[in-house]
Amino acid sequence: MTTRSRSAPALLRVTGTTRVVALLGDPVGHSRSPQMHNAAFASLNLDYCYVPFSVRPSALRLAIRGLVALGFAGANVTIPHKERVIPYLDELSPEARLIGAVNTIHQREGRLVGHNTDARGFLRAFQEDTNVSVRGGQFLVLGAGGAARAVMVALALGGARAVTIANRSVPKARHLARRLRRLFSSLDWSVVTSTSGLPPSCFFRGVIQATPVGMKVNDPSPLPLDWLNRSLAVYDLVYPGPTALLRAAEEVGARHAGGLGMLVHQGALAFSIWTGRRAPIDVMRRALLG
Ligand code: NAP
Repeated sequence: MTTRSRSAPALLRVTGTTRVVALLGDPVGHSRSPQMHNAAFASLNLDYCYVPFSVRPSALRLAIRGLVALGFAGANVTIPHKERVIPYLDELSPEARLIGAVNTIHQREGRLVGHNTDARGFLRAFQEDTNVSVRGGQFLVLGAGGAARAVMVALALGGARAVTIANRSVPKARHLARRLRRLFSSLDWSVVTSTSGLPPSCFFRGVIQATPVGMKVNDPSPLPLDWLNRSLAVYDLVYPGPTALLRAAEEVGARHAGGLGMLVHQGALAFSIWTGRRAPIDVMRRALLG
């Protein structure tokens, strides 16, 4: 007879009535969302399960139709589908519309509603992990992709005064700044052409790193150590880290945090959309760390 060790994971219980939530992306093999959401469902004894599906862009439309055909409760959407999924949905939440990207789909009686929980997830994580308020501050955002757009919308909704965008492709940053100026005209939106031309760091309350730089162990910090100062709050979306930027922030004594908190909070908001229940945030955080 074999005995299960204490650390063996509990078996996922799938019944005839189990509601399925999908993760649609390409690739998805590295994702920790299945362990986070399945732990959350199990801890509240909810008859749901979360399953990753690797979906190529050419198959996305069929995959979305499959969510309806198979009666899935919903899905998470990740790279590279967050924008291209929009035409296949019936409705968008106001935040998904503002950001122009969807990371969560909820099926309600055959209708697919697209949400974006990255913005509020970021805002909660940033304020909780750095203890710095967004309201009235000036922020530097590195990147102009989907995650950076969610961060910028979050900063605008959170009451920031000004946002400076630095992106590898400057025309993309300029285009984004023009769009955000139209949407949030009370904020001061500016673009820098390179990080070497940045205003002094004392102008900023915080820096948010929203590019994949730092995902590889040897990636350098996108900002030089001697530009940082100890009164900045530095948030790096990359997870798990710590990235070179966060190590530099630590060295100068600045408040800093990596993307774990955002991952947990965007997931918790998605969990509540699918289940109508308050998410067990501590369980989700522990599942990611485990
Ligand atoms: P994306 O839409 O592909 O955008 C990537 C952005 O990074 C673009 O602005 C791109 O610049 C820039 N970039 C890419 N490679 C670069 C390089 N080598 N040097 C400088 N800039 C570079 O990706 P995304 O969805 O925004 O995701 C960005 C990062 O955020 C990823 O690492 C992702 O894992 C992370 N993220 C974390 C969370 C969380 O919960 N913690 C949530 C969402 C995303 P160009 O415009 O010039 O191409």
